[in-house]
Amino acid sequence: MNNKEKNKKSIQDKLSNLKYNANSEAHLKVDIKKCLKCTSKPCTFICPAGVYEYRDDINEILVQYENCLECGACKVVCPYNSIDWQYPKSGCGIILKNS
Ligand code: SF4
Ligand code: SF4
Repeated sequence: MNNKEKNKKSIQDKLSNLKYNANSEAHLKVDIKKCLKCTSKPCTFICPAGVYEYRDDINEILVQYENCLECGACKVVCPYNSIDWQYPKSGCGIILKNS
């Protein structure tokens, strides 16, 4: 195994270098009425942290905002502009363990 392969880390390894200081109030809110029109639900596969989960038994998107990595991708791909996304309030959100 060469050095490049040794340094290759899985997404799970990288995510384990993060810790979270959860905000008591969600920093992202979804207008679930708009989600009813959304057939492709790109938020459920673009999010690297698995924040969005579509539950077909209740026909609703569940949002685990505490896991958010603050990349902003979900807001960009949402076709109905239904995600109200702000950075978590100061001191909350992701914290790099080694920083
Ligand atoms: S992409 Fe936007 S509209 Fe579609 S399910 Fe996700 S949040 Fe709702
Ligand atoms: S900002 Fe990034 S990590 Fe956070 S919910 Fe959106 S896609 Fe997921």
